[in-house]
Amino acid sequence: MIHYMSTRGNDEGKSSAQGIIQGIAKDKGLFVPDHFPVFDKKISEFKGMNYATIAYEVMSKYFEDFSKEELQDAIEKAYDEKFEAKEIIPFNEKGGAFFLELYHGKTAAFKDVALSILPHLLTTALEKEEEKRKIVILTATSGDTGKAALEGFANVKNTEIIIFYPSEGVSEIQKRQMITQQGQNTHVIAIDGNFDDAQNGVKKIFNDRLFNEKVQKEGFILSSANSINIGRMIPQISYYVYAYVKLLENGKIQEGDQINIVVPTGNFGNILAAYYASQMGIPVNKFICASNKNKVLTDFINTGVYNINREFHVTNSPSMDILISSNLERFLFHISGGQSDIIKELMENLEKEGKYELPDFMKNEMNQFVGGYADDQKTLETIESLYREESYLMDTHTAVGYNVYMKYKQETQDKTPTVIASTASPYKFTNSVINAIAPSMKGTDFELVEKLHEMTHSPIPKALKDLDKKEILHNTTIQKDQMMAQIEKILSNK
Ligand SMILES: *Cc1c(COP(=O)(O)O)cnc(C)c1O
Repeated sequence: MIHYMSTRGNDEGKSSAQGIIQGIAKDKGLFVPDHFPVFDKKISEFKGMNYATIAYEVMSKYFEDFSKEELQDAIEKAYDEKFEAKEIIPFNEKGGAFFLELYHGKTAAFKDVALSILPHLLTTALEKEEEKRKIVILTATSGDTGKAALEGFANVKNTEIIIFYPSEGVSEIQKRQMITQQGQNTHVIAIDGNFDDAQNGVKKIFNDRLFNEKVQKEGFILSSANSINIGRMIPQISYYVYAYVKLLENGKIQEGDQINIVVPTGNFGNILAAYYASQMGIPVNKFICASNKNKVLTDFINTGVYNINREFHVTNSPSMDILISSNLERFLFHISGGQSDIIKELMENLEKEGKYELPDFMKNEMNQFVGGYADDQKTLETIESLYREESYLMDTHTAVGYNVYMKYKQETQDKTPTVIASTASPYKFTNSVINAIAPSMKGTDFELVEKLHEMTHSPIPKALKDLDKKEILHNTTIQKDQMMAQIEKILSNK
C-alpha cells in the first residue's frame, strides 16, 4: 500500500485520505508517495478508453485506501457534462505538435480538470476518516484559481469555500466570474489591497495556531485548494497517460516510443504530474519547462541554482507570474533519492537567502529537463503566426509553451512527437489574443470577447458568455487586517 510522507522527513505513514484532508505536512513539507506505482497493464491495453477510465487507472494506483466504488463515484461526478467537450480533453495536431486542450471546463482554464475532482475526493476522505468537522477552503487568488475552486466546491456538502481577491489586480472578466458565483457555501471577499496582501493574509491565518484551534472547536477545519494538495496534483497525471494513449490510437507512436512533453509552468504542479506519469511507465524523452519573463525555472534548469532575488514582472501570461514554484520541492525530493535532510536544507536556504544551489549529483538527475522562456512580444508573435498558418488560436500561456518548443526543435532537430499542455482558452485572455491577431481592434473586455468570436468563429466558452448580464451575488470589501474577523463572521452563520 502506498503511504504519503513529507518531503522534509518529519511526517509520514499517511494514507491518501489523511494526506488529502491535511493538505500540507506538519513540518511544512509537501506530501509525496513513498514509492511510485507502476501500471499492471501494457499502455497499449488502454487504447479505446475514455478520459474517465484512464483517470481511474491512474488514481486507483495512488489512492489505494479508496474503494473502487468511491473512486469511480468521484470520477463520475467530476468528469461529466460540465465539460463542454464530450471527450473532456480534446487532442489536436497543429503546427508540428499535439495540443492537449485542458481548458474545456467551467472556468475555461486547465485548473478545472483537477479542481472538479478534488472536492469529491475530499468529502469521501472525510467520511473514510470519520471526520465530522466541516472543511473550510481558504484561497487567495489573483484570478484563475479562485474561480476554479468556487466552481469545484459550490454546493459540495460539508464544505464552505472562502475566496479573497485583491480589489485591484484581477481583470474585469475574472472579477465578474467570481462575484456572480452561485452556491450556498460560497463566499467571495474583496481585499482593499494587492495580491500579496491577500496571499500573506491567508498564510498568516493558516499558521495561526490559536485561530485554528478555535475554529476546530467550533467544528471546522481550515484547508487549501491549491496544488500542494495531493488530491489536486495526482489527478493531473492522467492528462499525460491519456495523451500517450491518444498518440498510440492515432498510430503516431508505437508502444514503448518516447514522447516530449511541453508545459507552460508556474507552480511546477502540472509538469510534476508529467514527471510522475513517466515514473509510472510512460516513456518520455524530454520535459520542456516553459516560462515567461519570470524565468526563475529556466535559469534553475540551466544552472542548478534557484534564485528569487530578481525583479518581478507582470506579463501577459499572468498565471505564470510566480517566483516560488512550490511543487518543485517534490521534484527535488525524488531526484535526491528521498533524502529529506537535503531538501530541508535547500528550503531553509530559500527562506533565508532567497536562493539555493543543488549538489552535483542532483544537477545530473535533471538532464531530461529543458528550460526555456518567451517574453510578452514573442508570445504575441507566436499566437499570430500559428493562427495565420493553421487558423488555430492559442491563449498566451499555451503560446509561451509552443514558442519554447519551436526554439528547442530548431536548435536540436529533435523529431520526437511532442505534446503541449494547452492550459487556457484564448477567450480567457481575449485582450492579449486580440492584440496579437488584430491589434487595431478596441473595446471593453466583454465587447472584445464578441469580436474575437465574430473574427474566428471559435465558440465562446459558456463560462464567459453573457457574464456582464449575470446577477452580482457577492459585494463585500474589507481591509486587509479584517480577514480573520470576516472568516469568523461567515462561520458563525453556518
Ligand atoms: C496555473 C496555470 C499555469 C501554471 O500551472 P502550474 O501547475 O502552476 O505550473 C499555466 N497556465 C494557466 C492558464 C494556469 O492557470
